[in-house]
This record gives sequence, C-alpha cells and structure tokens, in this order.
Amino acid sequence: MEKAMNKNDEMMQREKEEFEHDISRLNDMIKISKKIVFFGGAGVSTESGIPDFRSPNGLYRDYLDPRVVPPEVILSHTYFEEHPKEFFKFYREKMLYLTASPNRAHKKLAELEAAGKDITVVTQNVDGLHQKAGSKKVLELHGSVYRNYCTGCGQFYNVNFVANKKYPVPECSICGGIIKPDVVLYEESLREQTIVDTVKAMEEADMLIVAGTSLTVYPAAGFLNYFRGRYTVVVNLSRHEREDRADIAFHQRVGDVFSRIDTDYCTDKKDTI
Ligand SMILES: [Zn+2]
Repeated sequence: MEKAMNKNDEMMQREKEEFEHDISRLNDMIKISKKIVFFGGAGVSTESGIPDFRSPNGLYRDYLDPRVVPPEVILSHTYFEEHPKEFFKFYREKMLYLTASPNRAHKKLAELEAAGKDITVVTQNVDGLHQKAGSKKVLELHGSVYRNYCTGCGQFYNVNFVANKKYPVPECSICGGIIKPDVVLYEESLREQTIVDTVKAMEEADMLIVAGTSLTVYPAAGFLNYFRGRYTVVVNLSRHEREDRADIAFHQRVGDVFSRIDTDYCTDKKDTI
C-alpha cells in the first residue's frame, strides 16, 4: 500500500517537473519569437464564468431533451428571422455576460502586448474580454455582442439597448427595423476582412498558441493551416488531434499556464532605444 502511494507521489512529482520544464520552454519560445498569434476558443473565457458551449458541463448539455430546440438551431440566421422573440430571450439568457471580467489569460496577453510583444489575438469568443483586458490587436472571428446594428438602416446600437428586457425584440428607433447583434450565427459566413486579417496574421507568425478550443468549429479551425512558423503550443484541458504536431501540449486550464508567462523580459522597446 505504502509502495503504491510512493509510486503515485513519484508520478505526480514527474508530472510537476515536466510541467515546469514545459513552462520554461514556453517562456523561451515567446522570448525568441517576433510575431505571435494567440488562437483562442471558449476555454479561454470559462475562468471568467462564461460557459463553454460544447464542454460536458456546457450549454448544449441542457438541451439533450429533443423537445427543446437545440442552441445551434436557435442561434441560426433562419431562427433569428422567423422567431426573433425566442431568439432574443435565449440570447439574453445564454450569450450576454456583461458583468464578466477578464481572467489571468486575458490579462497576460494584454500585458505581453503592452510590454512590446507583437501578438495578435484571434478569438472565437464574442464576449469582448480581450479588449476589456487591454489587448489592442484582436480579431473576433465570430463577432462581438458589443456591436449591434439595425437590419433596416444599419444604425449602431450599444449592447445595453439589446439587453433591455423591456423590449422583447429590440427595434430601431429610426426605421423600426430589428436590431441584430454583430455575432456570426449558424448559416452565416465570417466577415471578409476578418478572414483576410486572420490569414495574414497566421502566415506571418513565427509562433502559434492554440488555447481553450477543441477545434471542432469550422471554418475557424481551418485558419490554423495557414501557419508556417516555428513553434506551436497547445493549451487545452482535453487532448485533441492538433497537439500531435505541437512542440508543447499543456492539459491545464489556460489561466494556469498563462499566469506562469514572464513579461519582464519583454523589453523589445527599450532595447531599440
Ligand atoms: Zn433602422
């Protein structure tokens, strides 16, 4: 019994050492790399209290009952047009987390950028938390809940207007058109400019960090094929196929890994003076 315990301790010790070794390699890679792309999914925001749609405890789990309309149907363009009232009820309950705060991962990415690292955040999330943390170079593949436009005249509305339950369906005060969140729904395509910018960032990067995504959402996941750089690092709680090609694969929470990234050495700006 005691022997088994020791073996367990030994394994844990080895895992811990391996983790420390990987953290140190990650820091070296970030230090050497000139252009970094951080490609993030839902797992980046879970620590901020925003549920992951596809995780075992996520949003989809509530909808295993076939009598209930599944989220991927509610969040489709057709459903938005045909049942706007039900769409907005669901949207307000399950998609808007306006009081959520940036977590350790968002903050570290913003710190790296502020310290002079050329880092582009490509996110599948629509929660605006990277910008809240202070990141400037953010490409939102699926849009943002903070931008909303009238489908009739294009007038901009802020998120509080859309969140207001007083109006079951938010309508434009100018033309009466329905206001649509600038979030890419099922059946809709990504914005042309975002695609172009993301491909360019991928092609130019020498380091790619893929975090908090199981890469099941296409076309978002297809962007990774444009990366031709030197280092790939994957951070995800569960395994996925992409990690076989990665230099390092962490199976930890994104925040647990990112809180260990140094920003002290990011003195690129000072060095060039
Ligand atoms: Zn309008």
